[in-house]
Amino acid sequence: MSAATPSPAQPPGGSLPVATPAQTRRAAWRLILADRRAFAGLLALNALAAGAGLAAPWLLGRIIDEVKAGAGASAVDRLALAILVCALAQLLLSRYAGLVGHRFGERALARVRERFAERALALPSSVVERAGTGDLITRGTTDVAAIGATLRDAGPDVAIAAVRVLLGLAAVFVLDPLLGACGLTGLVGIWFASRWYLRRAVTAYLDEGAANSALAEELAATTGGARTVAALRLERRRIESCRRAIEECRRTRLGTLALRSVLFPVVDVSYVLPVAAVLLLGGALMTGEPGAVTLGTVVTAALYLRQLTGPLDTILQQLEYLQSSTASFARVEGPAVPPGTPAPQGAPADDRIEVRGARYAYDGGPDVLHGVDLRIHPGERLAIVGPSGAGKTTLGRLLAGVDAPRTGSVTVGGVPVAGLDPARLRERVVLVTQEHHVFLGTVRDNLRIAAPAATDADLRAALTTVGADWIDDLPDGLDTDLGHGAHRPDGARSQQLALARVVLADPHTLILDEATALLDPRTARHTERALAAVLEGRTVIAIAHRLQTAHDADRVAVMRDGRVTELGTHEELAAAGGAYAELWRSWHGAR
Ligand code: ADP
Repeated sequence: MSAATPSPAQPPGGSLPVATPAQTRRAAWRLILADRRAFAGLLALNALAAGAGLAAPWLLGRIIDEVKAGAGASAVDRLALAILVCALAQLLLSRYAGLVGHRFGERALARVRERFAERALALPSSVVERAGTGDLITRGTTDVAAIGATLRDAGPDVAIAAVRVLLGLAAVFVLDPLLGACGLTGLVGIWFASRWYLRRAVTAYLDEGAANSALAEELAATTGGARTVAALRLERRRIESCRRAIEECRRTRLGTLALRSVLFPVVDVSYVLPVAAVLLLGGALMTGEPGAVTLGTVVTAALYLRQLTGPLDTILQQLEYLQSSTASFARVEGPAVPPGTPAPQGAPADDRIEVRGARYAYDGGPDVLHGVDLRIHPGERLAIVGPSGAGKTTLGRLLAGVDAPRTGSVTVGGVPVAGLDPARLRERVVLVTQEHHVFLGTVRDNLRIAAPAATDADLRAALTTVGADWIDDLPDGLDTDLGHGAHRPDGARSQQLALARVVLADPHTLILDEATALLDPRTARHTERALAAVLEGRTVIAIAHRLQTAHDADRVAVMRDGRVTELGTHEELAAAGGAYAELWRSWHGAR
C-alpha cells in the first residue's frame, strides 16, 4: 500500500477491497458536486421551510403576551391567521424540498450504479475469481439498494431535519441567550450518545456486511456446486460451513443491535430535559426579576425545543441507515483496479507474442512458473504439452492477459498483454474455452459484445463461418431474444455463438485450452468443425491434451515443473530422444 495515496483497504481472504473512510468521503463529495445546483436548491428550500416553521411558536408567544396585555379578539384573530399562512407555506415548501431531494437522490444513485458497473467490469478476472462472485453480487445488489434508500429517503430527510434543528436552536438563542444556553445544555446527552454510537457503528456495520456476503458466498457455492457436493458426499461439511456463516451473521447483527439499544433510551430522556430546563429557568426568571422575560418568550422557547424532537428523531433514526449505507458505500466504492495491475499501455506495434523470464505464483504462494521464455511466430500453431500440474494452464492465462507475471514479461507487439484494456486485448488475443454463457438479449446483442461496430452482414458472416445455420430458422432472425423461454440455445449452439464472437473480435492469436474447449462430448463434433473454422489464418497456442494436436502443430513446447524443457517441431523432438519422444513412443505404440 503506497504512502502517498491510500489504496482501498484489502480485507483478508482475497475478498474485494473496501474504500477507506477518506476515499468514501471524497466519493460522497464528488456525488454532491456532480449535482451541486440541485443540492444547493435543496438546502435553500429546506431553510425556507424551516424558517416558516419557526413562525408559529413565535406568533403563539405573541398571542399570549398580547392577551396578557389586554388585547382584544381581533388581534388574536390576526395572529392566528398569520400562523395558518405560515403553516401552509411550510407545508408547500417542505413538500417541494422533498421532491427536489428525491430527484437529487435518484440521479446520484444512477451515478453510483454506473460507476460500480464500470469498475466491476474493469476488474481483472483473476481478482473476481479469487474474491468469489458472491461478494461482487452482494455489493451490486444489497449494498447498492442500501445506498439507494439513503439517497432517495434517508439523505434528504436528514438534510431537512438538520436544517430544522439548527434554525430551531438559533431561534431560541435569538429569543433569549440564557434560555438558548439552557436548552443546548439539555441536548448534550444526545451528542455524547451519538458520538459513542458513531465511533463503533461503521466497523459493526462493515462486519455485518462482510458476514452477509460470506453467507451469500457459502450458499451460492453450495447450490452452484450441488452435484459435486452430492457426488463427493460433502453435505455435512457444507451444512457445517453454512452454519458457521449463519452464526457469524447472527453475532454481527447482535453487535449492531446492542449499539442501538444504548443509543435510543439515552436519546428519549434527552428530548424532555431541555424543555423542562427552559420551563424551570424561564419560571425562575419571570418570578425573580420582573420584565427579564415574558411568559410568551418562555412558551415560544419551550415550543421551539419541543419542536426539535421530530427532526432529531429523524436524524437519529436515519443515522442507522446512514451508518450502514456508509459501510455499503465503502464496499461499493472499493472495487477499484488493484494497485499491482499495470497501467494501460499504448497500442502493440505488431502481432509478435513474447514471454521472457516469466515467473508466476498464485496468491503469494510458491512460484509455479520458474522463468519461462517463449517466442511465438505469427501465424504458427504451437502446442504446449506436459504432465498435469506442469504449468500449462497458468502459462495460457498469462498469454491471454488474465494474469500478469510476477516478474519477467508477457508482451504482444512489445506491450504487456495484461496491461491492455479489454477492448484492445480481445482484438489481439482471445482465450477460447467451453464458454456457454448466453446473455439475455437478442442474437445481435449477444454477438455485438465482441464487436460493437459490426454490421448485420458481419454478424451473419461470422455465424456462417461457425456453421450456425440454425439462425435462419429463428422467428426474428438476429432480433430473436435468447436466454429464457423458447429460444434458449443448447450447448452446441451456445458454443457456436461464443465462437462467432471470437470471429467478430478477430484476434490474431487464440489461446486454446483443449481440456475446457472440447469438454462436452455431445457437442464435440459440432464444436470441432466450428473451432477449425475459427482457428483458420490465426496464430494458435493450444494447450494440448491429445498428442495428435502436438503432432499436427508447427512446433511443440514441452513443459515440466513450471519450465519449458523442450521446444521444436514434432519431428525434431521425436528424434531428440527426450521426454516428448518418450511420450510419443508410448502413445503411438499404444494405438
Ligand atoms: P497444468 O495446466 O499443466 O495442469 P496448471 O497451470 O494448472 O498446470 O498448474 C500449475 C501449478 O499451479 C500446479 O502446481 C497447481 O497446483 C498450481 N495451481 C493452479 N491453479 C491454481 C490456483 N488457482 N491457485 C493455486 N495454485 C494453483
